[in-house]
Amino acid sequence: MAGPLDLAMLDPAATAPFLTKDEAAIRLAADAKAIDALQDRLYAEGTRALLVVLQGIDTSGKDGTIRGVFNATGPLGVTVTAFGEPTKPELARDFLWRIHAAVPRRGTIGIFNRSHYEDVLVARVRSLAPALEIERRYDHINAFERLLSDSGTTILKFMLHISREEQRQRLEERRSDPEKRWKFHPGDLDDRRSWDDYMAAYQVMLDRTSTEWAPWTVVPSDRKWARNAIIAGVVRTALERMSPKYPDRDWSGPEFAVP
Ligand code: ADP
Repeated sequence: MAGPLDLAMLDPAATAPFLTKDEAAIRLAADAKAIDALQDRLYAEGTRALLVVLQGIDTSGKDGTIRGVFNATGPLGVTVTAFGEPTKPELARDFLWRIHAAVPRRGTIGIFNRSHYEDVLVARVRSLAPALEIERRYDHINAFERLLSDSGTTILKFMLHISREEQRQRLEERRSDPEKRWKFHPGDLDDRRSWDDYMAAYQVMLDRTSTEWAPWTVVPSDRKWARNAIIAGVVRTALERMSPKYPDRDWSGPEFAVP
């Protein structure tokens, strides 16, 4: 299927609409500032939320995106949740239990570093659940996101798309750079060996869970500067569409005069 979400057709090294790093940096700075101002309104309004889901293979830049896009956003109204391997209590519930508990409260932005999508990605590649159960999860996810959307949460999902060669370089750098070595997990090499299976699982995920109420954006992520600027632009646009307003309170009466 050729379409805007066809991974094989999307160049991970693309930078459009930005031609240069400087141009992207200028736009990113402006968008980050705008996101902060809009977030302040969202918080004051206190009725709606924004959920940003970040998915991508190891080294695709999920952490770097959070740092790069939200570094100007007031921390008061932002939560970041990283989802690792489920714990025993989590495994004793349905796969969405831990996710639902972490969704952003009204007035805030919630960022998911990995998410419920691991349950149709790593779970599919490593057969962590019966195939039929994984099949059903796509529908469960769409219904769950619909619930969030109907309840006032705008959902943005980003797949950070890097090339296999770029991942090789980044893993190699992690292995050798003393400041990055802590991030290197030998287990990541197993995932790399399953590269094709992961890409196939990502494609199914994109095909089955990009909905009107929770669309996916595939972000070319070989160039970190383009990645951050592209994501910031989408987040800013979404917040502008939400158009949060400061509550209109009238404190002008004499009874409210500050004594
Ligand atoms: P990161 O690699 O993102 O820096 P961690 O070291 O905590 O963070 O690793 C997260 C690991 O947890 C990944 O290998 C990921 O595949 C795994 N994981 C996350 N969610 C699930 C899940 N639902 N089922 C199985 N494994 C999961």
